[in-house]
Amino acid sequence: MEIKKLCVIGDPVSHSKSPIIHNSMLKHLDLPFVYDYQTVKSGELEKWFSDAKKMGYVGFNATMPHKVDLLKFVDEIDEDAKMYGAINTVSIKNDKVYGYNTDGKGFLRSLEDKGVSPKFKEIVILGAGGAASAVALKLASEGAKKVTVCNRSVEKAEKLCENFPEIMFATDFSAENISKTCETAEILINCTSLGMEGTGKNFESLEFLNSLPSTAIVCDLIYYPEKTELLFEAEKRGLKTLGGLKMLVYQAVFAMEFMTGERVDVEEMARLVINVLSSD
Ligand code: NAP
Repeated sequence: MEIKKLCVIGDPVSHSKSPIIHNSMLKHLDLPFVYDYQTVKSGELEKWFSDAKKMGYVGFNATMPHKVDLLKFVDEIDEDAKMYGAINTVSIKNDKVYGYNTDGKGFLRSLEDKGVSPKFKEIVILGAGGAASAVALKLASEGAKKVTVCNRSVEKAEKLCENFPEIMFATDFSAENISKTCETAEILINCTSLGMEGTGKNFESLEFLNSLPSTAIVCDLIYYPEKTELLFEAEKRGLKTLGGLKMLVYQAVFAMEFMTGERVDVEEMARLVINVLSSD
C-alpha cells in the first residue's frame, strides 16, 4: 500500500506537538499516511511548496510564519480561512491546492463541550494576534451579541473589529478598560501569550476577574501549562474555566479530516490525543 506524506511546516517547528498528535490518530485509524515536521524559513515557502509536491506530500499544517503567505499558493480556500485571511491546513488533490483554517472551529468545539454557545453572548477577547483573530471572528460569525477586543497595540484590535463593525469593539489593554468591559461579559478569552510557560511574561494584574459576573466562563488559549495562573485565579473565584488543550486537539482532528479526506469520530480522536499527550 502506498504511504502518503503529511507534515507541519514552520520556523521554529521542531517543538511542535503536531507530529505526535497526527501520527497517533493516523495509527489508531490505520490510515496510510505518515506525518513529520519540516523547517521552512520565511521567504522559502514558494521553493518548499514546489518541492513538496515532488516529495510526495499530499497535505500539511502551517504555523508561524506562513499562515498568511500561504493564501498566495492555494487554488481554493474555505470560508473560515477567507474570513481570517490565514490558512493553517493545506490539502493537495489531483494537482489542486485547497486551504483551510481549523483554529476557530477548534475553539468553538471546545467551548461547546463546556455546554457554552457564543450565540447572543457578550464576549471579551484579550489579544488581537493570529489566534485572537480566528477566535473573535468565528464567535462573531456564530451570533455573538458583542465582542470586545482588548489589545496592547490598539490599532490591531481596531482593524480586526472592522470585520463586524456592528458588534465588534476595540479597546486598549489598560487594566481599567479590561475591568470595565468584563462587567457585563459572559465569556472572557485570553488569546495573548501572557502566562505561557517559557515566556516569563504574565498579566500585571488579574483584578479584572473580580469584575466578571459570577456566571461567566474564563478561557485561555494557552495549553502549556495546562492550567495557567489566569485559570487558577478564575477557579478560586468560583468561575467556570476552559484551557487551550481541547482547542489544540480539535483543530488537529478537523485538519486531519481535511488532509486525509476521512470523516472521523471527533470525540474518540480527542480522547485518544489527550491520552497520548498526557503520557508524552
Ligand atoms: P501572536 O499572533 O504573536 O499574538 C500575540 C498576542 O499577544 C498579541 O495580541 C500581542 O499584543 C499579545 N501580547 C504579547 N505580549 C504581550 C504583553 N507583554 N502584554 C500585552 N499583550 C501582549 O500569537 P498567536 O498565534 O495569536 O498566539 C497567542 C497565544 O495563543 C499563544 O500563547 C499560543 O500558544 C496560543 N494558541 C493556542 C492555540 C491552541 O490550539 N490552543 C492555537 C493558537 C495559539 P500586540 O498585538 O500588542 O503585540
